[in-house]
Amino acid sequence: MTYVLFNDSILDEADVAISYKDRGYHFGDGVYEVIRVYNEEFFTLDEHINRLYESAAKIEITIPYEKNALKAMLHEYKTKVQTVNGSIYLQVTRGVADRNHLYTKDEVPVILGFDLPDKGVSQKQEQGVAAYVTEDVRWLRCDIKSINLLGNVMAKRKAYDHDCDEAILYRDSGVTEGSSSNLFLVNNQTLYTHPANNLILNGITRQEILAIASELELAVIEEPFPKEVLLHAEEAFISSTSLEIVPVHSFKGDIETTLNVGPVTKKLQYAFQERVTKKTNASV
Ligand code: PMP
Repeated sequence: MTYVLFNDSILDEADVAISYKDRGYHFGDGVYEVIRVYNEEFFTLDEHINRLYESAAKIEITIPYEKNALKAMLHEYKTKVQTVNGSIYLQVTRGVADRNHLYTKDEVPVILGFDLPDKGVSQKQEQGVAAYVTEDVRWLRCDIKSINLLGNVMAKRKAYDHDCDEAILYRDSGVTEGSSSNLFLVNNQTLYTHPANNLILNGITRQEILAIASELELAVIEEPFPKEVLLHAEEAFISSTSLEIVPVHSFKGDIETTLNVGPVTKKLQYAFQERVTKKTNASV
């Protein structure tokens, strides 16, 4: 049986009745998180829950549960579906209403959660991936983890159509992030990444990497850089909950160059695994 978390119940998927009037369906009016499970334990659960509530608040969705109640529901769900290593997807839409752009603020949010299998990314982590550099055509509130991801899915498709695993996006103001990841460059023992403002999603993995960098006393510069800087990077990597840290071995598209999977990226990957082990008792 496939179980789904639906509001405060865990149901067989066949019993989940999503309304055709759900505003998530009409407008992409909702927010989400993907939370990793290692060795039956959630990793950075509080950080994901905090970001979910922040994203919801930014679009005036009030999640109808206390954080602890939602966390308890997620724990119950994880136990029910017996996730050992994988992820849990959780989304909150504004709720059900007659189709109208205008929300009334009285809608009752709809919560949906389900488990996602482990993606098996170890080969990418070792060998790196190609990334397609293309214009960032998304809106100006990329800090909100919205389920409305058209700009992201279009960029991801474009990357795959050019034999790349990820799209790296840039604006006039500089390189922002990947279509579903954050981007870091390494030059001269220093990490470079876009600041956490409205133009990127402040990834939880990104935040973990910044904490690791501080522990390792690696310098970090959080400033936008023009896409031409990609040509001079010693190393580059992308980060996300499902990828962890994946090196970029080549940029294609509007910038074309190749890079080595370098020592700083490897050091960070190692430190990230140690952190996972420490926080989840996982022997990865
Ligand atoms: N940026 C975007 C646009 C993303 O979709 C994601 C992954 N959801 C990330 C960054 C990385 O975020 P996290 O490390 O929290 O998964």
